[in-house]
Amino acid sequence: MKIRISEISEGMNHFHFDVDASELDIDFIKFETPVTVDIDAYRVSDQIDFKLNFKCKMFFECDRCLEPFDYLCVNNFNVVYKNIAVQRNVIEDSQDDILKFYNLNDVYIDLLPDLRDLIIISVPMRKVHDENSQNCLALNTELNSSENSKKEVNPVWDKLVELKKKKKNKS
Ligand SMILES: [Zn+2]
Repeated sequence: MKIRISEISEGMNHFHFDVDASELDIDFIKFETPVTVDIDAYRVSDQIDFKLNFKCKMFFECDRCLEPFDYLCVNNFNVVYKNIAVQRNVIEDSQDDILKFYNLNDVYIDLLPDLRDLIIISVPMRKVHDENSQNCLALNTELNSSENSKKEVNPVWDKLVELKKKKKNKS
């Protein structure tokens, strides 16, 4: 995901990449699709503000029911690159942005390591089916068992009602 610095013109630029999972080398995530990355690069002189948006499908096993499911992973972040040789023309950034430097001799800025970090922190800690999902076996079982227990309660109530009726009839 290298961008040639000389190809980033003053003002707004757009870049698009489809990054294959093998390039990322994240062995604990199974990717269903390449990672689609859209980048806005805003350049003022020797400072370039990148805004990255990425999207991909991951393949998890549900922690709750162990069934496989697809997870749509979407996130974005900002990273600011400054020419390390030109520190005087620095523009104030918001504190949320990650600040990095490129060297005067650099031809490219490679955003792949930044993307890699972002993807790793975007993976949910708990990998489970959506609460509303019909596909989660564990959730379905919970629902069914609560329905069953209702059914089991009903006959008892029926008997009580019957008993009460009988008592009424006798009196
Ligand atoms: Zn599940």
